[in-house]
Amino acid sequence: MPRKSWLLILPIVIVLFVNTTTKNHVCDHEAPISDEERVKLSPDIRDRMVKALEFKTISVEDGMEDIYSNEFVKFWHYIYEQYPRIFSSEDPDVQVDRIEFENGKETIVVIIEGTDRTLKPGLFISHADVVPAIRKEWTHDPFKPFVTEDFVQARGAYDCKSILMAQLEALHALLLNGEKPPRKTYFLFPHDEEVGGFGAQEAAKIFRERYNIQSDGFAFIIDEGMPPIRNGLPGVTKPLLTIGYTAKGYLTVELTVNYAKVGHASIPEKESSITILSDALSRINANPQPNQFGKSIEVEMMEGLVPYLPWTIKPVIANLWLFRPLVALAANFDKQMNAFFRTTSAITIFNAGYKSNVIPIQARAVVNHRIHPGQTISQVLEHLERVIDDDRVLITQEEGALEADKVTPRDSLYGRKIVHSLNRTIKDIIAIPGIFLAACDARWLQDFSDHIFRFYPFVMEKEDLPGIHGREEKLRWQSYEDGINFYLDFFRHMDENDLPPGHTEL
Ligand SMILES: [Zn+2]
Repeated sequence: MPRKSWLLILPIVIVLFVNTTTKNHVCDHEAPISDEERVKLSPDIRDRMVKALEFKTISVEDGMEDIYSNEFVKFWHYIYEQYPRIFSSEDPDVQVDRIEFENGKETIVVIIEGTDRTLKPGLFISHADVVPAIRKEWTHDPFKPFVTEDFVQARGAYDCKSILMAQLEALHALLLNGEKPPRKTYFLFPHDEEVGGFGAQEAAKIFRERYNIQSDGFAFIIDEGMPPIRNGLPGVTKPLLTIGYTAKGYLTVELTVNYAKVGHASIPEKESSITILSDALSRINANPQPNQFGKSIEVEMMEGLVPYLPWTIKPVIANLWLFRPLVALAANFDKQMNAFFRTTSAITIFNAGYKSNVIPIQARAVVNHRIHPGQTISQVLEHLERVIDDDRVLITQEEGALEADKVTPRDSLYGRKIVHSLNRTIKDIIAIPGIFLAACDARWLQDFSDHIFRFYPFVMEKEDLPGIHGREEKLRWQSYEDGINFYLDFFRHMDENDLPPGHTEL
């Protein structure tokens, strides 16, 4: 190569190298919490979790018979008995508010006064309801917990009684120890996250009206999200947790074609409602919503992975200033990356025809979108209209659409505190900021805080992942113990200025 070309390339090579080595640095040398600080998983803690899983706190879809109200009543009765320092306390600093609903279910709010009354309060959310489970799909009755030395298997073991119980264990241990969290702390336990979130919506009203909490009134909100998954990515064996700094939005549209020129099935027209709608659907599939890489928190997410990636791709991800277009392309080849980088469109319902020798006038399809935070509902609809480009296809928006959540600042102090406590309590955990692809109750309380985080602190084996909303849902005991200690450590250190120096990067 001529000397001149080298002179041009050399600075680029140096930048690539420097970026790769600096971004390769991991700050995982936090001292773990001491043995005295650590709560051990006693038989009592284990039993309380197992018993909590026996209650059928099931949320059923609209139109199905709901026979479970009494299970919620029994569940909370049981919880009240088990944690008396919280639920039947004489302590004026501990308050319980029960929000009653017509169906007899209750959303519960627990409020603990902090030691420093000048600090903004924090909010933890964990829903008490679970999705249904079909007995014959499980090896054991999903509501008679199957317990081994390593795990408990039952509906709700992970989503989301794990969080609810771990937070109560941690809080109870804290109070029994004569401690209080540094800041006022709210716990919200809604009864219907899985089917509408009316509990959280009502709580939002009560926070405003009864407790005078206004916009940006909570320092932070912590809700359920992604689990830390071991062996989650090729080459990454350590448990990898993507903390949801934002969450995708939701939009369902119905596409209808009414095409009356049907003719007889023996002499068919060239087109029919079915062919017109099929063409529209093919175009939606062939022209996905635009790639949004870099519009939200994808860059931080990818850069957070740098230290754990194989050396073959490390320099690429560490140098997104150069390789951004290349990395964005990953969405075209990998469904996971696709879900992180753009609004997804899933065709979920297709209906047409009723008789084998009759051409139907009407065809109908439903497309479910999960909206990337870089896009709005109207932008998604505009793209859809442009791509379909056929007046005969009627596009109607179904009820319940939601914009994507706003994005928590990447350098949020609370985010760093969360990572700090995770590192102190969960061995080898890797935590990076990212997008939560599903939805949780925090969406109803967005206005109350700029710092919202969505995650589970319980390490999960990759093969356990389908258990969430699926069959054989599991919680590993070691993970449960670690998660209780995470909450306890975070409760102790969630005031504003106590992050040790040198641990400030996420
Ligand atoms: Zn959940």
